[in-house]
Amino acid sequence: MSFDRVLNRAGRRSLEFVRLFKTGGVIVNEHVLSLEQTRRHVEVLGRSFDFIHLSDLQNRIHARNKKPFCLLTFDDGKRSNATVVAPELKRLGVPAAFFVVTSSLGGHTPFWFDRHWALRAKLGTLPQGLALPVLKQLPYRVLAARIEQACAQYGVEADLRNDDICPMSWEEARRLHQQGFSVGAHGHTHAILTRETKADAFENIATSIRMVSAEIAAPCPGFAFPNGNYTPELALHAFDCGACAVLTTEPVWVDETFPLWRLPRVQLFCGHSAGVIHLKLALAASGWMLSNPDGTGRGYRAMRRVRRRPGHNSESLIEHFAAGAAGSVSHRPVNLPE
Ligand SMILES: [Zn+2]
Repeated sequence: MSFDRVLNRAGRRSLEFVRLFKTGGVIVNEHVLSLEQTRRHVEVLGRSFDFIHLSDLQNRIHARNKKPFCLLTFDDGKRSNATVVAPELKRLGVPAAFFVVTSSLGGHTPFWFDRHWALRAKLGTLPQGLALPVLKQLPYRVLAARIEQACAQYGVEADLRNDDICPMSWEEARRLHQQGFSVGAHGHTHAILTRETKADAFENIATSIRMVSAEIAAPCPGFAFPNGNYTPELALHAFDCGACAVLTTEPVWVDETFPLWRLPRVQLFCGHSAGVIHLKLALAASGWMLSNPDGTGRGYRAMRRVRRRPGHNSESLIEHFAAGAAGSVSHRPVNLPE
């Protein structure tokens, strides 16, 4: 028996076992998928989960005796989301949420990480100052300037003719909304918000939520943190700015112990086989086995889960949260192990 078949069988059995005792469901975090990959992910996920709209999330989190749910989310707002993924999801009757970077839509500047990919493709090994873990520690302004300078120095640029690289337009985003998909905010720039000053991070979040709401002429249904990095203070700010749900990248299942301002997501990649998807979602049910793609490893395990209840303001929630996990209410990522 091939390794793929063994993995597929093991993954599927693991997920069937998990479903016996696990309530809630999963929020899946995708980026770009081809037509074939979209079909495969939907086919594999549809075996074990009911697909839901972002607007159904609150009800389904509290529903009893239901099949586990799956909310599909796509970050960054690449044009292929609108031209390849969404038409296929619509044909299949599968809802999804698309989180867009508001300053990039309709623009002609590639994202810093696509430029980084282009640099790596051309140069092979990159200088230490361009290593991803190093870049992700930097404020956005410094990071973007460093990438820009490297692209100029090595004569490299990301190819905006590729719809997996080029951002969609606002017209395409509005069409997604009109077709019944959710269009949410993913920052005004793709800054890692825990690397910004509090004032800059607050402004970035507020601007992106305000722009989405204005462009789709409806309340912004959600905010997803770029690279997943967040603090409770930033998450609650996004919630207070009007985002109906706030999403991170903590790789666990979501259930009623999670507040709407801190919803976990399990990241899937385009090349994942059925077996890997099953196994990853089964491992995510454990609540502690997968690493957070925001670079903080398994630090999320130390987090306490609190609900936003009537009468609780943001400050008291932050204090409650921080007392259990971070020991401080300062502007810093509580999911960074110290
Ligand atoms: Zn992103």
